[in-house]
Amino acid sequence: MPQSKLTDRFGRTVDYVRLSVTDRCDFRCVYCMAEDMTFLPRQQVLTLEEIARVARNFVDLGTEKIRLTGGEPLVRKDILELVREIGTYGLRDFAMTTNGSQLTAMAEPLRKAGMHRLNISLDSLDAEKFRNITRTGNLGQVLDGIDAAREAGFRGIKLNTVVMKGRNDEEVPELIEFARKKQVDISFIEEMPLGEISEHDRGLALCTSKEVRDIIRQHHELVPATGDSGGPARYYRMPDSPTRVGFISPHSHNFCSTCNRVRVTVEGRLLLCLGNEHSVDLRRVLRGNPVTDDKLRQTIINAMDLKPERHHFSTNGDVQILRFMNMTGG
Ligand code: SAM
Ligand code: SF4
Repeated sequence: MPQSKLTDRFGRTVDYVRLSVTDRCDFRCVYCMAEDMTFLPRQQVLTLEEIARVARNFVDLGTEKIRLTGGEPLVRKDILELVREIGTYGLRDFAMTTNGSQLTAMAEPLRKAGMHRLNISLDSLDAEKFRNITRTGNLGQVLDGIDAAREAGFRGIKLNTVVMKGRNDEEVPELIEFARKKQVDISFIEEMPLGEISEHDRGLALCTSKEVRDIIRQHHELVPATGDSGGPARYYRMPDSPTRVGFISPHSHNFCSTCNRVRVTVEGRLLLCLGNEHSVDLRRVLRGNPVTDDKLRQTIINAMDLKPERHHFSTNGDVQILRFMNMTGG
């Protein structure tokens, strides 16, 4: 595998790409989408071939880790074809973030198609609260999906929970017990101000990672894990369990100095930072005449100069980024 040829102005090496494969979703999570969403018309969305071409060129530039996300990646038609294709690129890590609603049918085919790891979002273990947060989700279906994923033999499964005061913060101990019982990892995420929402005041609902750690410590000892993944999550272990507990803290812990990642939206916009609008239009290159891989790679290399030093999320609940997370690719 080649060393990454992607380095930014601050000396950070980019070897991790998150590709959004759709802006659509069968859920409407309150922190991620408005209830009534208008999705992109088909011609603005990259084809699976275009997404694979972007992925292949990133790999040629030294990318070792790709995550497929969305929207809900499993609602994209023929997603397995893309997984199968990217699965041949020899990645060190190939993962997907999913809401789990389709996993009873899709877990095993995904694993067979070459996917290494899954992150599955789970914000509540109470069916009614789960429905309130996701607006359309069915908890039982997701729990069955988690079991199907465990049976399919992925290298790793991690649950992702966005913790919101007054909505699911009191469920943190139960979610920890669930992760321990299922022998999967779990990460708790601070809600980010992406897109305008009306359901709750983000400033008031913010539950910091420190607050979540304090809740867990009433039940379990947390020991900082060594051999960190290099990502934004900080991991801990509990002495009596293989489950790792991660904290993703865009507000309370700025992880930008070690940022190794970029994102590509389903419209082909290369986003250099989750918390900033800096971007480059790869779709224009992909649909130019003639399209060459050289041009695509040079555009990606040049884009690295736009990667900002850090994000600045405020905690007063104001929206700082107008695009919703389903556009960004989580
Ligand atoms: N649909 C898939 C899912 O829910 O896992 C993948 C896409 S989703 C946008 C990726 C992750 O982003 C999810 O874990 C979700 O909880 C998280 N997310 C969405 N909006 C967020 C926000 N405003 N702040 C923090 N996390 C958010
Ligand atoms: Fe869909 Fe995931 Fe956003 Fe929820 S967080 S609305 S499941 S894309």
